[in-house]
Amino acid sequence: CRSVLGSLYDRLKGRVRILFGEEARTLIVDGGEFKGVELASGRRILAGFGVIAPGRAGVEWLHGEFLRLKLVVENNAVDIGVRVEVPASVTDDITSISHEVKLLYTSRHFDDPVRTFCMNPRGEVVEEHLEDIVTVNGHSYRNNKTDRTNFALLVSTRFTEPFKDPIAYGKSIARLANLIGGGVLVQRLGDLLAGRRSTVERIGRNLIAPSLTSATPGDLSFVLPYRYLTDILEMLEALDALISGIWQPYTLLYGVEVKFYSVRPRLTRELESEIANMFVVGDGAGISRGLVQASASGLIAADAIAAKLHSSNM
Ligand SMILES: Cc1cc2nc3c(=O)[nH]c(=O)nc-3n(C[C@H](O)[C@H](O)[C@H](O)COP(=O)(O)OP(=O)(O)OC[C@H]3O[C@@H](n4cnc5c(N)ncnc54)[C@H](O)[C@@H]3O)c2cc1C
Repeated sequence: CRSVLGSLYDRLKGRVRILFGEEARTLIVDGGEFKGVELASGRRILAGFGVIAPGRAGVEWLHGEFLRLKLVVENNAVDIGVRVEVPASVTDDITSISHEVKLLYTSRHFDDPVRTFCMNPRGEVVEEHLEDIVTVNGHSYRNNKTDRTNFALLVSTRFTEPFKDPIAYGKSIARLANLIGGGVLVQRLGDLLAGRRSTVERIGRNLIAPSLTSATPGDLSFVLPYRYLTDILEMLEALDALISGIWQPYTLLYGVEVKFYSVRPRLTRELESEIANMFVVGDGAGISRGLVQASASGLIAADAIAAKLHSSNM
């Protein structure tokens, strides 16, 4: 990651000015056209075009700005679930065919979509810090392999009237896990099914040790609403038919994993917003869900800006 970012920096050095540690506070718009941004320091940076890409951490800020500018926003689904960790030998057969296995399940009881996401064969579970909350995520290295595989199981929820704040809902659930466990919780599937919390001793006797050592052994049923827990357990049991060895007491569940892609402004195909010359890209705008798509969305906006500049010079 450091070397990729380093290469990007080296490539851009001398051609663009990069400001680190500065927070964009206000989008400056005049007569329906983008004019620049005002930073938290009060400094104003004026520009003919803007590409706004604040990622998931900036979703709430962006939402606030869209509302202030009276732009049309759609509420997307919020995804809430757990990260699952199993011995790599359980998943090797399937991950040797496809590194990233995408499986979608429709839950019997609630008719909810439950999906696998971000599979990390022989990887590790990690913390993700979003402002003041800690959620769970995962990654894997090309060289440093572990003997465990992790992936997320996420339930997508699309709220209906009058509720309009799926971000706050997702954060509340994450905060509950943090309240009980001081961070990320981890529970053996066997303990969850037996209706008891996991303890340090029970985790210590488990077939696999958690790769996220900072996770607190606890009870996810105090955190996840019945609907999510039911959906996740149903999917785990269904998965076992395909990947034998998932529906076992030793399977570790970390909570919670939350994906906030909740505001989606009205954009053109070129990702230009209702504000002329203001483009919105990446996860923060709810149009991408990963590195490749986020990067591609930046290229789309850049091409559109280049085309506009080209036509205005003709
Ligand atoms: C632990 C982890 C593992 C992941 N693993 C994968 C993976 O394996 N594969 C994959 O495809 N994707 C993965 N992702 C997702 C991927 O990182 C994102 O999809 C991608 O980075 C989104 O790019 P982006 O440019 O939209 O936002 P980001 O990369 O999040 O960049 C947005 C930046 O804007 C900053 N910002 C926010 N608000 C403001 C503001 N007001 N002023 C100034 N700056 C602001 C943020 O701090 C951030 O630095 C992972 C994410 C995490 C956290």
